[in-house]
Amino acid sequence: MELRELGRTGLKLSCIGFGASPLGNVFGTVSEEQANASVRLAFQSGINFFDTSPYYGGTLSEKVLGKALKALEAPRSSYVVATKCGRYKDGFDFSAERVTRSVEESLERLQLDYVDILQCHDIEFGSLDQIVNETIPALVKLKEAGKTRFIGITGLPLGIFSYVLDRVPPGTLDVVLSYCHYSVNDSSLGDLIPYLKAKGVGIINASPLSMGLLTHAGPPPWHPASPQLKSACEAAADHCKEKGKNISKLALQYSLLNKEISSVLVGMKSVEQVEENVAAARELANSGIDEEALSEVEAILKPVKNQSWPSGIQQS
Ligand code: NAD
Repeated sequence: MELRELGRTGLKLSCIGFGASPLGNVFGTVSEEQANASVRLAFQSGINFFDTSPYYGGTLSEKVLGKALKALEAPRSSYVVATKCGRYKDGFDFSAERVTRSVEESLERLQLDYVDILQCHDIEFGSLDQIVNETIPALVKLKEAGKTRFIGITGLPLGIFSYVLDRVPPGTLDVVLSYCHYSVNDSSLGDLIPYLKAKGVGIINASPLSMGLLTHAGPPPWHPASPQLKSACEAAADHCKEKGKNISKLALQYSLLNKEISSVLVGMKSVEQVEENVAAARELANSGIDEEALSEVEAILKPVKNQSWPSGIQQS
């Protein structure tokens, strides 16, 4: 599995990262056995990056991931764990007091002494000025205290990243995690990459399958996309199926093509999905992407290209 540098952190992340939200049962029930086997196979296949949050499954994802990582009996330095703070099952709280307590709770659930990356989760739901003036300074203290090695921010609207990065001292933030903006149907993150690189932050792209839109099984019922976007993605998936091709493989490979992105986080809930996704990365490295299928899918998705959905509270 190809490793890519994460900004100036010195971390080398596998180009595919293990998104652990499915371990919180957000895409259907996953048994603990299945979770353990998926994490083990991912690690054995060269995936060294695991992302979770206290929000996923109301802390369940962190607990299940922590157990599965412990069961690996691998040196702590051989894998990178990212978790988040500020978003919980019962709502958002980006106060310094809450995020400081949050990391201690996460470490206990994950059975770890430190996490590698701690990120403010979905900051568009909070006051961005509080993020700048209160939350990030609290995270800097947690970094100094050794609870996390690096800090970052996550969210959907791309404007949040420049808002915050333009207002914190240079070098404060190590990482940004963007999702659903570097997939076949929406690649708008691409325009922001030169800016993010100039700011020296590492770039993580999550949800290459657009949270299930680019799968043959289709998205979960809670998916926020418009009916138009959902039906265009379904048409693209059906087209691939008719041609004997797999839309998820194509979509993941598309996201992996951009090497400015350090890791592409895919949510995985079974050994089969780990196998398929690892094989997709290997195939891409050996023989490149199926250009014909890609241009056909891009043509079907053209009317909805870069269409997103509202997220968060209006910032003044
Ligand atoms: P995704 O686009 O990775 O899609 C996940 C869905 O695709 C799940 O239903 C999964 O079972 C399915 N899937 C995975 N591999 C497949 C395959 N080969 N074939 C068919 N289906 C397959 O969306 P995601 O899980 O939301 O995102 C990935 C990860 O990124 C999350 O688990 C989380 O760790 C992170 N993330 C973070 C944020 C944030 O911080 N705000 C937002 C979104 C995602």
